[in-house]
Amino acid sequence: MTSAAPVKTQYEAVIGLETHCQLKTTTKIFCSCATDFGAPPNHQVCPICMGMPGVLPVLNQKVLEYAVKAGLALNCQIASYSKFDRKQYFYPDLPKNYQISQYDLPIAEHGWLEIELVDAAGDPCHKKVGITRLHMEEDAGKLVHGGSDRLSGSTYSLADFNRTGVPLCEIVSEPDLRSGAEAAEYAQELRRILRYLGVCDGNMQEGSLRCDVNISMRPVGQTKFGTKVEIKNMNSFNAIQRAIDYEIERQTEALECGELIIQETRLWEEGTQQTISMRVKEGSSDYRYFPEPDLCAIELPAEQLVQWQSELPELPAHKRHYYETELGLSAYDARLLTDDRVVAEYFESTVVAGGNPKQAANWIMGDITGYLNNHKLSITELALQPQGLAELIVLIENSTISSKIAKDLLPELLSRGGSAKEMVERQGLTQIADPGTLTTMINEVLLAHPQELEQYRNGKTKLQGFFVGQIMKKTGGRAEPKITNQLLVQKLKG
Ligand SMILES: [Zn+2]
Repeated sequence: MTSAAPVKTQYEAVIGLETHCQLKTTTKIFCSCATDFGAPPNHQVCPICMGMPGVLPVLNQKVLEYAVKAGLALNCQIASYSKFDRKQYFYPDLPKNYQISQYDLPIAEHGWLEIELVDAAGDPCHKKVGITRLHMEEDAGKLVHGGSDRLSGSTYSLADFNRTGVPLCEIVSEPDLRSGAEAAEYAQELRRILRYLGVCDGNMQEGSLRCDVNISMRPVGQTKFGTKVEIKNMNSFNAIQRAIDYEIERQTEALECGELIIQETRLWEEGTQQTISMRVKEGSSDYRYFPEPDLCAIELPAEQLVQWQSELPELPAHKRHYYETELGLSAYDARLLTDDRVVAEYFESTVVAGGNPKQAANWIMGDITGYLNNHKLSITELALQPQGLAELIVLIENSTISSKIAKDLLPELLSRGGSAKEMVERQGLTQIADPGTLTTMINEVLLAHPQELEQYRNGKTKLQGFFVGQIMKKTGGRAEPKITNQLLVQKLKG
């Protein structure tokens, strides 16, 4: 009797993200210090954000507005009553020795965010990711660890408190994600939404958007969570995806070898493409939260909520859906065009002005994006207005100009703007589509190249391209290609 081989346990990853987003306010959360990135160290500080005794914080209204708008866009329930709490911990970049945050009554809870994925068959599919909570808090300062001091030989660290009190919004997801790709897509969609709202610039290199990942593995079918590991220090979507995929592999191998996963914080190392252990968690920290006595509780009037709700822009997912179903664009094009709100708005204005959607998408994603990248410009700085682009597209569509001429006109239109129609009229670039005129020109060209004509008639038919080239040269590229080719073939065949 042979016994069946033991079935290998299949594991699945359980992943949740905690995202810290810096809110794009001009001043800090509880004082009027500026929030500009890159200012000289300790030039944007005051007694309040330096935690001097006897000072009183006052909540920046914009912070509340931005947090509520983010909560609404993430389908959260907005708390009609919310408050701030003190989270006590000591760290040299935290001058007060506590952080003002929100604990048991966050401003928003119980939301969701839908992400677009590709299934195993390569077809697009959607997944809803739960949002546990969203709360407001202040950022800490920054420590710069120096080398050794030349005189004393001792090592030192410098503290920069410019960032202390910069407003943050922490967004915690449910552990609904299952792979690095899903987590990266979640983070990207979250950033798109925050950027559409104008509440966060989403610049990961400057730390305006920071993601911490919680990840554990469990046998497929088991509901209980495994021991979770936290990964920090990822400053790109690519890093999030790779760090998670690395960790899934590491934890799966460990479990298959019968090892225990240790609850710890790990760092993503870009150089080696690995996560490394940073510190082992010894139980959950006791932050001794208590209500912040220097700030009033937040009672949000219903009218205020209605007002902010009415100010929300159309969100990227809605735009993507509209582009695909109503404008006939591919999922890929819709995704690319809606990634940045100003690009999407430029595209939509072009369509409203009469430009064919597919053509408008091609011009914007092709030549226009190339021009913007080369000149380090935003589409809002482009001299060519959507109306002008729409005109150009119409001129090609109704065969007034060839697409070759359109490409020739584009550099001037991009840099100086103006009307494509006027430009075409002024420079006499209208396409020649009149069969009589074209026939005359074709006859002239054939007469001027008797040798090539003979070769063609002896079977060298690829010379057709040569003749088309000659006609284009003669007309400055203005001959309508389709009619020209038809007439030319007739003539060539004699
Ligand atoms: Zn300040």
